[in-house]
Amino acid sequence: MLRPSCHPHLFRLLDSRRALSSAASSLYDAVISGGGMVGTAMACALGSHPHLRHKKILLLEAGQKKGCDHLPEQFSNRVSSITPGSATLLASFGAWDHICSMRLKPYKRMQVWDACSDALITFDKEGMEEMGYIIENDVITAALTRQLDSLSERVEVLYRSRAVGYTWPAPYRNAEGSPWVQIELADGQRLHTRLLIGADGQNSTVRSAAGMKSIQWSYNHVAVVATLELSESTDNNVAWQRFLPSGPIALLPLSDTCSSLVWSTSPERASQLLAMDEESFVDAVNSAFWSSDHHSDFITSAGSILHSALSSLMPSGTSARQLPPSVSRLGKNSRAAFPLGLGHSPEYVRQRVALIGDAAHRVHPLAGQGVNMGFGDVASLLHHLSSAAFDGQDLGSTRHLLEYETERQRQNLPLMAAIDMLKRLYNTSQPSIVLLRTLGLQATNAVPPLKERIMAFASK
Ligand SMILES: Cc1cc2nc3c(=O)[nH]c(=O)nc-3n(C[C@H](O)[C@H](O)[C@H](O)COP(=O)(O)OP(=O)(O)OC[C@H]3O[C@@H](n4cnc5c(N)ncnc54)[C@H](O)[C@@H]3O)c2cc1C
Repeated sequence: MLRPSCHPHLFRLLDSRRALSSAASSLYDAVISGGGMVGTAMACALGSHPHLRHKKILLLEAGQKKGCDHLPEQFSNRVSSITPGSATLLASFGAWDHICSMRLKPYKRMQVWDACSDALITFDKEGMEEMGYIIENDVITAALTRQLDSLSERVEVLYRSRAVGYTWPAPYRNAEGSPWVQIELADGQRLHTRLLIGADGQNSTVRSAAGMKSIQWSYNHVAVVATLELSESTDNNVAWQRFLPSGPIALLPLSDTCSSLVWSTSPERASQLLAMDEESFVDAVNSAFWSSDHHSDFITSAGSILHSALSSLMPSGTSARQLPPSVSRLGKNSRAAFPLGLGHSPEYVRQRVALIGDAAHRVHPLAGQGVNMGFGDVASLLHHLSSAAFDGQDLGSTRHLLEYETERQRQNLPLMAAIDMLKRLYNTSQPSIVLLRTLGLQATNAVPPLKERIMAFASK
């Protein structure tokens, strides 16, 4: 009989063989940790792609399955503005049809204006084309879940399964000598994967366990959300946003008679808004959209001189101001608040790991881009993984993961910088800055090609 002291190398080899064969039984080609909107979209996209037909894919979600057998009559207070680019991605694997069969509200115009002056900018597309869609997050999740159910032969899903630990292959440590990423679940189960996709949100444990840095700051801002009923039924196909010195307030259409509120403000003001009785809250919302308390005569005169000059130089460039609808009622129990901040991971990938969605980047909701950036990550990672599979390469190899990282950072970083700059530029009533942004906004509004470029960039 062989004694371990005599043959230590042989025993170590046998141990690692045993570890590898038990790993092989639970070995996936890709595991997505986090089944929010972005992670579930990633699972659908991988499960639908013909080049990935024979791959073993798993989605892990710490929460319960969020189906949608019965859509509640009242709109949810959590909604997202979805770009045409994201709609195209969702349509490519069949989830868009499910959204359309539930509910969504297209909008055709966007008006953004300054509370400290008359400056405004409008965005719309030629003809009747849609600029974007306001969709409840629950509807997006339910549509993705329904689509995932139809892919059950290709994608395994474990709900109520929290990943609590990860072990990395060389050059990082891996106690068992396995070449794969090992995932430990809260119930003690161990899984292995060639590629771990971290879609576990802003506090990503995949990101921190992999030692990937994250730059984060709080805006000391809270978004108060609510569902609101309008005083009158209209086409309600405009998305409105007004920049108050305390933060932007947006009214996003949900139906002919309802809109969704996203009001970013200081934590103190947010607490007041949440504690107000319904009537005072509705008055506060209407006043935030209509009041001219922050106007100054000097800025108003300077702005109107520029406006007249631009109107005579570029008559087609200056668009007419529309008035936002007035609000009459607050949806029952629909008020809630969410802290806001910025998060950026300078690395999206490492060997056998990739981050997508809020795990990689988090932005202020003023431009309605957070989940759209996440869907952009899904489209890009799908493209690189499917090419790797087509070429017979390992899905977890760094080469194509780096291509994904480069592509997404090029797109995401300028957008994040622009959103952060807008947040800072509008978070003040200092006259020199108000004057500067008033002139800048009016000039941008008067140059249609510039507006078209902004629209094209933001609607990818
Ligand atoms: C007020 C507000 C308004 C917004 N409006 C818009 C908008 O109009 N348009 C837009 O594009 N974006 C908007 N956003 C941003 C958007 O909501 C986020 O970008 C998006 O929800 C991020 O999705 P995600 O799937 O990446 O992360 P998350 O939604 O955070 O999902 C992460 C998932 O991972 C799961 N999870 C976490 N840890 C683990 C673990 N260890 N194991 C297993 N599962 C785990 C969680 O349960 C969760 O389901 C808004 C945000 C806010 C706050």
